[in-house]
Amino acid sequence: MPVRPLHVGRRPVATTCPYCGVGCGVIATAGGDGEVIVAGDPTHPANHGRLCSKGAALAETLELDDRLLYPEIAGQRVAWEEALDTVASGLARILREHGPEAVAFYCSGQLLTEDYYVANKLMKGFIGAANIDTNSRLCMASTVVGHKRAFGSDTVPGCYEDLDTAELVVLVGSNAAWCHPILYQRLSEAAACSESRKVVVIDPRRTATCDLADLHLALRPGSDAILFNGLLTYLHAHGWLDEGFVEGRTEGFEDALAAARASAPDIATVAARCGLSEVAVAQLYHWFATTERSVTLFSQGVNQSSSGSDKVNAILNCHLATGRIGRPGMGPFSLTGQPNAMGGREVGGLATTLAAHMDFGDAACARVQRFWQSPTIARGPGLKAVELFEAIAAGRVKAVWIMATNPAVSLPDADRVNRTLARCELVVVSDCVRRTDTTAYAHVLLPAATWGEKDGTTTNSERRISRQRPFLQAPGEARPDWWILTQVARRMGFAGGFPYASAGEIFREHAALSGFENQGERAFDIRGLAHLDDPAYDALTPIQWPVPHPAHQGTARMFAGQAFHTASGRARFIPVQPRPPAAAPSSANPFVLNTGRIRDQWHTMTRTGTVPRLTAHIAEPRVEIHPDDAADLGLEDAGLARLSNATGTMLARVHLAEGQLPDTVFVPIHWSDRFAAQARVNALVAPVTDPLSGEPEFKHAPIAVAPFRPVWHGFAFSRTPLESLAADYCVRIPGRQFWRYELAGERDGVDWAAWSREHLAGAGEWLEYQDRGARRYRAARLLDGRLQACLFVGPTHDLPTRTWLAQLFAATALDGAARASLLTARPPADQPDAGPTLCSCFGVGRNVLIAAIQRDRLTTPEAVGAALLAGTNCGSCVPELRALIDATLHPAVATLVTRG
Ligand code: SF4
Repeated sequence: MPVRPLHVGRRPVATTCPYCGVGCGVIATAGGDGEVIVAGDPTHPANHGRLCSKGAALAETLELDDRLLYPEIAGQRVAWEEALDTVASGLARILREHGPEAVAFYCSGQLLTEDYYVANKLMKGFIGAANIDTNSRLCMASTVVGHKRAFGSDTVPGCYEDLDTAELVVLVGSNAAWCHPILYQRLSEAAACSESRKVVVIDPRRTATCDLADLHLALRPGSDAILFNGLLTYLHAHGWLDEGFVEGRTEGFEDALAAARASAPDIATVAARCGLSEVAVAQLYHWFATTERSVTLFSQGVNQSSSGSDKVNAILNCHLATGRIGRPGMGPFSLTGQPNAMGGREVGGLATTLAAHMDFGDAACARVQRFWQSPTIARGPGLKAVELFEAIAAGRVKAVWIMATNPAVSLPDADRVNRTLARCELVVVSDCVRRTDTTAYAHVLLPAATWGEKDGTTTNSERRISRQRPFLQAPGEARPDWWILTQVARRMGFAGGFPYASAGEIFREHAALSGFENQGERAFDIRGLAHLDDPAYDALTPIQWPVPHPAHQGTARMFAGQAFHTASGRARFIPVQPRPPAAAPSSANPFVLNTGRIRDQWHTMTRTGTVPRLTAHIAEPRVEIHPDDAADLGLEDAGLARLSNATGTMLARVHLAEGQLPDTVFVPIHWSDRFAAQARVNALVAPVTDPLSGEPEFKHAPIAVAPFRPVWHGFAFSRTPLESLAADYCVRIPGRQFWRYELAGERDGVDWAAWSREHLAGAGEWLEYQDRGARRYRAARLLDGRLQACLFVGPTHDLPTRTWLAQLFAATALDGAARASLLTARPPADQPDAGPTLCSCFGVGRNVLIAAIQRDRLTTPEAVGAALLAGTNCGSCVPELRALIDATLHPAVATLVTRG
């Protein structure tokens, strides 16, 4: 089924990228032939026309192959009426028999604000509990707590322009080069324009972001609060406080300073406790103290910690102490992970917020109930994500409705979450994808519209509300999430509260609630947008809240001269007593596991994992480990490792990384059971959370690492997807016109001829080679001379290059030489191995780049771009290009050549 454009003719539609919190504007143009062209929106203030590798590949994510197109009950297609009746009656029965606390919604930062608003209203105002939480709990909840403690509101004070004009940018726990690439590019451009500008990266890993760093502090994992407490001590001791601001605009300084001094009295102590050199710490402190225009960007490396809230406040304390907040070029700045994490926070999508940035006080509850005219109202916070799934496991929550997220992969203790979902009395899943690890547990599956089909708004990291506009017709019977929620609410007897016929109608109500009985005490106020009619809503251009009246043009910065949203109107310093991570490494689990994103994948890969060019950069789950640790363990680069602890186990490809601290490893978060066997890293993460925010400690899980030594290695290519491949290690990788499977197993004696006939079965001619002594097997199936499938097996991972075989799948027919090369497993001499793709826009492989850099002495990314185009489109690979140039022009170049 091809995608169908919404508009006749090639009408460009301005919309917003559905991935990270940068919130880039996108121009999408759909043709009648189903072709979609995507480009950056030059008028959008977040990206000025740029897109990163993920955004640039958006058009390739619109295939309908694995879409959920129709409602299902128990795996069988049903009509919408039946599915909605089943959900409504199921929720109503559990509500009646067990009360409101037995029902829960688990939402997502992928939802649009309008979807979120309806879900929150249904749960808190009509079901009557606050058990609605979201996957944003997993990435930004600690910042919410930090903001609310310091400012009295969950407010990001600054805007992206501050990144352009800052003279010092400190990135803490943020690999922006890969996770927020367009902001990274803004930083990079600003750095190129100012010789005096400094960039500091604070991160245990040397990441691609360090390409920009004048100073990289590879601090001991979990020691961030000590470093920032030390900065507060230093600022005070050396007379760098803005005493007027501290005196006139804040409270609690003395207590915060006392706590800082107690844990971080001087540079020597800080350096020792953080595992840093005194010179490096002193340099950071000196630069921060002497640079008025300082921005501190922080992200999941700070938030995803059992003391994440305190880490956030340790950072905010330093900005309050210097008065560097709300003015151009300065301020603390949290980078949100998801496209609409902020929108979820605004409507009350977190169980700890009521609605429109209101908490659960009596007055607020009465106000919201009055506004909603609802029969009930939640009176206190609900269950946070990890608690929510624990309550399901304990049987206290009996029905969960999961929307646009994949908790079977993304929550900590993922194996237990899987077992929990299997036992839950009623699991409803709304998703656009038919097969995720989570949909496997759904009693009822509801097909949701997705990016390109949905209509609504998102809010990015700088409080900017942008429109997501549809340009495609929703396929099959897919419907917007707000519509699905509305239909269920009506069937539960709440028709009066859910009259919505459009996203615009919901937005107006949301905007009106933000201004309802708000005399300025609530920061989130967009009442100025409450009267947009449908055409005006459709035409809404990106705008930063607050927007307190209709003529208002939005608010770039907060708190410059205005009161904070605390009772006193003053910002609050928070005393921070640094705590170590919840679990320390031990003799059984001596390595610290840190998890995070990679450049070209998004979350659990349901969208990006099917795009060949996005999987070409890093194709398999991997563990990054310091070469010395690897040598001690007997691990080889590109070999396999087993990671384990009491919580779970996983297998991953070994990647030697000099930038990894000894005794630590990094593993990407993305792989799920759908894309790999035994590769869910969150199976290794214990459900330990920050006591205030409920955010899990994804950055610090003690584990054991050991070689995984299968007796056979192999890979298969097939034009059609293969199912149920019995292999201990199995990764599914999309290619152009084929699927590739990387395989390895511990069981000897496999009958490979039988295996290929079973799994690669089909019409055509077989080519086959077997050397039992060498334990090698090769087989290929051709139809009309065209390669259909092939299998290569051997005792080691040193098998033929995959890039060569991928090229054979593009050929219309294989000649004699190509057939012979298949059986000898030797590519022709004129087809060298391009290596893993580094530039995904132009498909340029690492080995091709190395050869060109050596041959032509290419010394800059610009020179590489001129020669090979690499890095000249989205620019996401430029930090890696620069690193490759440095490494290639170094004498140890021979170690760089990598097999693809
Ligand atoms: Fe999308 Fe990339 Fe922009 Fe993030 S930086 S919003 S992923 S284009």
